[in-house]
Amino acid sequence: MGCEASEELKQSATGLDTSESAVKDSRRPDADLALDKGAVFLKDRDLLTGDKQTKTGYLLVDIELLSEAISGFVQCKYCSSTNCISVLENSNSRRGLACRLVLVCKNCGEEHTFPSSKYTNNGYEVNLRFVYSMRCIGKGSAASKVLCSVLNLPKPPTRFQKVTEVIERSLGEVATECMVEAAKEAVQENAGSTDIAIAIDGSWQKRGHASLNGVVTATSIDNGKVVDVVCLTKYCHGCVVTKNKVDHTSNCVKNFDGASGTMEVEGAVQIFKRSIEERGVRYSTYLGDGDSRGFQQVVNEKPYGEHFKIEKWECLGHVQKRMGNRLRKLVKDMKGQKLADGKIIGGRNRLTKDAIDLLQLYYGNGIRNNIDDINKMKRAVWATYFHKLSTDEQPAVP
Ligand SMILES: [Zn+2]
Ligand SMILES: [Zn+2]
Repeated sequence: MGCEASEELKQSATGLDTSESAVKDSRRPDADLALDKGAVFLKDRDLLTGDKQTKTGYLLVDIELLSEAISGFVQCKYCSSTNCISVLENSNSRRGLACRLVLVCKNCGEEHTFPSSKYTNNGYEVNLRFVYSMRCIGKGSAASKVLCSVLNLPKPPTRFQKVTEVIERSLGEVATECMVEAAKEAVQENAGSTDIAIAIDGSWQKRGHASLNGVVTATSIDNGKVVDVVCLTKYCHGCVVTKNKVDHTSNCVKNFDGASGTMEVEGAVQIFKRSIEERGVRYSTYLGDGDSRGFQQVVNEKPYGEHFKIEKWECLGHVQKRMGNRLRKLVKDMKGQKLADGKIIGGRNRLTKDAIDLLQLYYGNGIRNNIDDINKMKRAVWATYFHKLSTDEQPAVP
């Protein structure tokens, strides 16, 4: 699994294309041209053998095999003897997964030490990548220890939390840059106007309305990119550990108190309130799903002053879905009850699951096909109703 992904990472990091296709391409007559362009960087040997040669990234290598291979191949540059170089790990030097490797000449005793990972401002790259990857698959320190011990790797970084913070900070910075850029792009696509239309949507970590964590996103309708996001959480581990005895206000992560159902409202308000300062735009149109509490609260807060009117758009998909939802609920509520004609609501030629799907489709089409004409839209929507109501004996007329 990781192999392809890391291959990509490596390629993007180095600009070298060592993929199979590049190797094949390089055997074409125009391969020289590609080499000139620097698009393909391969040694002559690779061209002859067609071998893939990877020059960057991480590998899991058995240190014993590495040592044997080097010993059998190289000559000591100090004493010129052969079969004398061992590769050892200086195990006192371990910093998480990073360590220092030593090339030692058994003959003359000369040594060369080098690190197993590049170093960044925030520690060894391999440790940052490791913690980041564990967080990406939703695992923490305990799972890391198991993974490393089974793979016979050094112990994972002990300061897991510290590294997580570094990664969180970096990701946060990158995310903000991207969102600021997306907002600028939306302005361009909106003919330069900084009053842009957004879709607001809230999503919860868990289904239902009992979730502790939620995220509310604002997506530009002009370019479909996320321009702002608010994460809300009702849970703080610190509060639980200290049982609220110690005041830890300064690093408390809890930022929301209230029913999970109102998270979207809170997120929407925050997004609107900071839009001018942080994104340089005003959100003039609010596209929301069926729940209009968020919109209502935003309007009440008047984020852009007394006179600025924020428009509400309904997402047609959601409006359409509501027709189906209501009909399905009706069938459920009427279960077992006899209607005026003595029959139940469901069954053959009655309000079946398929019939509901069809009614929902007609309803959506009635709106969609008459976007510019409200009267035609009304007629088209009601047409389905009268069509269904109508029988040969009792023709229904709108
Ligand atoms: Zn030597
Ligand atoms: Zn707390």
